[in-house]
Amino acid sequence: MFDYKDILSEIKKIYLSNNIPWVIGFSGGKDSTATLQMVFYALSDLPKKKLNKEIHVLSNDTLVENPVIVDYVNKQLEAIKTIGKTKLFSHNPELFNVVKVTPKLEDTFWVNLIGKGYPSPNRWFRWCTERIKINPTSNYILDTVSKKGKAIIVLGSRKAESTNRAVSMNKYNNGNRLRKHKLPNSFVYTPIEDLNNNEVWSYLLQAPSPWNGTNRGLLKFYRNACSGGECPFVIETGTQSCGSSRFGCWVCTVVERDKSMENLIDNGEEWMGDLLQFRNWLYKIRQQDNQYVPQNIESKAKFGSFLLKTRRQILNKLLGIQKNLAIKLITDEELYYVYKLLESESKGEVSGGLKKFTYKFPKRRTVSIIADYDVLLTPRKRLGPMFFDKAKLIESRKVSPDYSQSSRTMYYEVEK
Ligand code: SF4
Repeated sequence: MFDYKDILSEIKKIYLSNNIPWVIGFSGGKDSTATLQMVFYALSDLPKKKLNKEIHVLSNDTLVENPVIVDYVNKQLEAIKTIGKTKLFSHNPELFNVVKVTPKLEDTFWVNLIGKGYPSPNRWFRWCTERIKINPTSNYILDTVSKKGKAIIVLGSRKAESTNRAVSMNKYNNGNRLRKHKLPNSFVYTPIEDLNNNEVWSYLLQAPSPWNGTNRGLLKFYRNACSGGECPFVIETGTQSCGSSRFGCWVCTVVERDKSMENLIDNGEEWMGDLLQFRNWLYKIRQQDNQYVPQNIESKAKFGSFLLKTRRQILNKLLGIQKNLAIKLITDEELYYVYKLLESESKGEVSGGLKKFTYKFPKRRTVSIIADYDVLLTPRKRLGPMFFDKAKLIESRKVSPDYSQSSRTMYYEVEK
């Protein structure tokens, strides 16, 4: 059995050991709640004059969070901000920041799925995590580093979460409590890494929330929603649990069934039935060949992007549910951008997204691939950036009037 006072002592020691600002990841789940709570308790033991470095509590809103969780996290963040500024850092409230980051407009789930035609994500093509989770938080950390020189990222990661997590944490274990993160001048500190599930709950149920949150309510929520783990604060692609646990995006199609949403519905949130049906439908059409722009025989990938008509159908269904439930599922900015992309595509003016490219290599070998400028199978990766810069578009032809611009075959020739 651990003594959490040891963890509080360590937190104090590490906080006082340098002037590097802390960026504390907060997802609203039990691990990040326990971590932030311990930081609050540890820092409130210190004399105010020693609390002189910045704390940033960072939360990531993917814009497709489960609406029940959005509501819960927003309330928590508001309370954390109030108590952090008025009690913990009352001597200098500017040092305590609570920040919510969101993906860039061109990176959001709906813009990519509907606007650009990326198929609903699955295990092999999980294009969303980087765009909607990792990039927004990484950008905030990089911004802090550029202003302050360095940053310490405080996370609720635990070795007992999974074998993969333990392996990855041990890999970076250099004997120091601060481990180097792959972002420049950034370090990771994981105060509760050795605790198991029961120890985290036992701590949360013993120690009252410093910002008057409801840890018993959190436990109840877990009981109602979680059949698996939680979606942690994700800052790198290796995080396995994103997409295999159900505490995250309500649209996630990486798993066959969203047990968390099913459990919430079984436990009284019947109104979420429409969301679950829609998610299940997104999962289903992912498996149907006739929803995709077909690829030609030379392509290694069997399918391209979703057809324009499929994407219009997704949008119509989404807007229908939004209207029925009277909750925002897609922002106005996203909607405007999605319409713009769909309209340009139907006029044949696409400039981004998945497309089928056919390249003619100098030796007259022709290669056709699904391509995007910044995703897995990019022309850059196939041709290399040097070659791609020299590639000359020879012809761009519509495969058939029945298909969208995405089905264009583009012939490129690479100059020697
Ligand atoms: S939870 Fe699912 S939809 Fe959300 S980022 Fe992870 S894999 Fe993508």
